[in-house]
Amino acid sequence: MSPGTDALLRARAARVVPSGMWGHLHAARLPAGYPQFFARAQGGRIWDADGREYVDLMCSWGPVVLGHHDPAVDEAVSRQAALGDCLNGPAPVMVELAERLVARAPHADWAMFQKNGTDATTACVMIARADTGRRTILIARGSYHGAAPWCTPVPAGTTEADRAHQIHFAYNDIASLHVAAERAGDDLAAVIVTGFRHDNVVDQELPDPAFARAVRAVCDARGAALIVDDVRAGFRLHRGGTWEIVGVRPDLAAWSKAIANGHALAAVTGSDRWRDAASRIFVTGSFWCAAVPMAAAVATLDRLDELDAIGHMERLGRRLRDGLDALARTHGVGLRQSGPVQMPLFLFDDDEGFRIGSAFCRAALNAGAFLHPRHNMFLCAAHTDADIDQVLEAAEAGFRAIRGLAP
Ligand SMILES: *Cc1c(COP(=O)(O)O)cnc(C)c1O
Repeated sequence: MSPGTDALLRARAARVVPSGMWGHLHAARLPAGYPQFFARAQGGRIWDADGREYVDLMCSWGPVVLGHHDPAVDEAVSRQAALGDCLNGPAPVMVELAERLVARAPHADWAMFQKNGTDATTACVMIARADTGRRTILIARGSYHGAAPWCTPVPAGTTEADRAHQIHFAYNDIASLHVAAERAGDDLAAVIVTGFRHDNVVDQELPDPAFARAVRAVCDARGAALIVDDVRAGFRLHRGGTWEIVGVRPDLAAWSKAIANGHALAAVTGSDRWRDAASRIFVTGSFWCAAVPMAAAVATLDRLDELDAIGHMERLGRRLRDGLDALARTHGVGLRQSGPVQMPLFLFDDDEGFRIGSAFCRAALNAGAFLHPRHNMFLCAAHTDADIDQVLEAAEAGFRAIRGLAP
């Protein structure tokens, strides 16, 4: 890989891949000046196709939680790959993994596995509808639950019928939740909520305990399922699931991203009340029982505990947040940091069209820190104090670059 490789690959991709890339990685959605292609990664660092090295604060948009090439996960992957991956049915490791999840998540009596977070959230909704015989799902406005027709944020190619029987409310807003529940009447099948509010391009919010209890009460009063979509936050805030931090247990939870440190796997966990419905719906996929990602997941879960990965990410995340706050004050710039420190998001005040954030991140990128101007970022267990020092030095370059742009 050498300078110019990314540009060449983009030109070739533009001919054989619609717009060169799809979804959140659509070429037009990349921050200006960012690479599209990556050559390799190790620990908390990543190298783009042009050979430039960065401290990686995107961690593959969430899946990498231990760091790239965690040795214990790599070892488990090689061992299972030598035995077999895609077989006529699951390998023994599936049962081991289900037992691990049931042991970790206090709400969980059972687990089932898929490939992507969207598979898991979709299955949760189906289980709730199958059990209750009702249709309506309450969804927080702006929350991302995946890219299937019922939930994809861009409606192109979907029909109104795909999104029928959905009522929206505002995250952390009890009054709007109650209005939505009233509208659902006796047709309420489920309320689905993300572990915390991590909607694109707005300040993040942890769940308000009173709101979480209100969601639980609505679901209990109406016999509906409380679904926590922990696909993004899962394994980074609390080992048993994000709503453990507010003491509220879901009925069903969707997991993916960090579950196997970068290997393709998703899971649904649930309590006994929903076990029968979970066994009645028909969901499957050719690759859903592949054994290698499951072996990776078992190793990942064990390693998260062994390393106290959450504690480590919180400590470094706190250093990063405090360091950025101090730099913003020194430079007299209005910078808003929100959400849990291990999943940082920063937005600049009065930043029309993300001009300030984009210029800041581009300068930081050139100084060796891979940040994102609009999306939440992720720390991992392999990040070091030296990595945070490098990110803060890169941020200093960012603050110098936006002189004159910030109000
Ligand atoms: C990423 C994400 C999904 C979808 O997961 P995929 O693996 O991309 O299908 C669902 N919910 C949340 C909260 C997510 O962050």
